[in-house]
Amino acid sequence: MLQPAISELVGRVLAEQCFVGGERVSSFEAAFGSAHHVKHCIGVGNATDALFIILKALEIGKGDEVIVPAHGWLSAAEMVLLAGAEPVFADVDAASYCLSVENVESLVSPRTKAIVPIHLYGQMADMQALKVFADRKGIFLIEDCAQAHFASNGGDMAGSVGIAGAFSFYPSKLLGGIGDGGCITTNDDDLAQKCRAMANHGGIEKNDHQMAGLNSRLDTLQAAVLEFKMQHVDDWITARNHIAGYYERELKGISEIVTPQISLGNAHNFHIYAIQAERRDELKAHLATAGIQTEIHYPKATPFTPAFSDLQHSAQSFPVSEKLQQAGLSLPIYETMTHQEVDYVVMTIKDFYS
Ligand SMILES: *Cc1c(COP(=O)(O)O)cnc(C)c1O
Repeated sequence: MLQPAISELVGRVLAEQCFVGGERVSSFEAAFGSAHHVKHCIGVGNATDALFIILKALEIGKGDEVIVPAHGWLSAAEMVLLAGAEPVFADVDAASYCLSVENVESLVSPRTKAIVPIHLYGQMADMQALKVFADRKGIFLIEDCAQAHFASNGGDMAGSVGIAGAFSFYPSKLLGGIGDGGCITTNDDDLAQKCRAMANHGGIEKNDHQMAGLNSRLDTLQAAVLEFKMQHVDDWITARNHIAGYYERELKGISEIVTPQISLGNAHNFHIYAIQAERRDELKAHLATAGIQTEIHYPKATPFTPAFSDLQHSAQSFPVSEKLQQAGLSLPIYETMTHQEVDYVVMTIKDFYS
């Protein structure tokens, strides 16, 4: 139970009377950045802001195209649109649920400025291959790391391969605060300066507005809580991988289910354990009756949401995303889940298909 220690910490921050910026924010930025092997970590209000700030700092806007995944949370597509550029949706890889080179190569045009892979459910896209591809084409890779804290691919940490990464500390994420929070990671000195300014009304120093920016900060209180919780993340990831391994052993024999695959060379954080299930909605109802709460990430692929309806995409354009929308189901997974609890979920699923 971390709650007593967090309450005590919150009390200390209140007593310190510093609520914006300060030592606690820079201390967390340094710790989180170093854990992800990046030179710069910039605390911001949330991951959605982080993506917007990165796009603006890279001067991506009117007339530009940015490739985003059809399956996953909509922030990247949404921020591309708000930045004035055009989101170009790509289907995702059936095994990793993330973007692969095969998904994006036919979509690159002379106007393509960036690709935004989402490291979905806790494992990274094949960044080594994407990096080779993007470098050859001269386009940026911006990593959506909102679900990928401490995940790695071929030894590279999430947020360290592309020009920049966007992390979320929303409470339900693997590393979550007690409210909204996020950060930008990058190894590029100039971009780091620009993002920091962009998040602070266009300037690093007070009253120095080099450009129009926004006000997007990681609060002192969130930074304090996150730095405290960060010490436990390794243990949580180990526990989650343990549970995922158990699910895998028990569920892989069920022909109606596809279990999540860990891509070669990846360290998965299992923020989410997403299976594909036949008769998904019936299974979900059956589990609910047994008191087991499951989630559907994501009930509608982003191109089919009203916000993007004028692009007039059809289901045939994104067969894998379409399949995941129909069959995707996230099973309970949390670090304190007991063997008995996992077993109960497994038994209830077996019972449904038998
Ligand atoms: C949660 C999430 C976001 C948005 O994070 P916020 O901090 O809430 O803005 C973006 N992308 C993905 C993949 C997410 O899961």
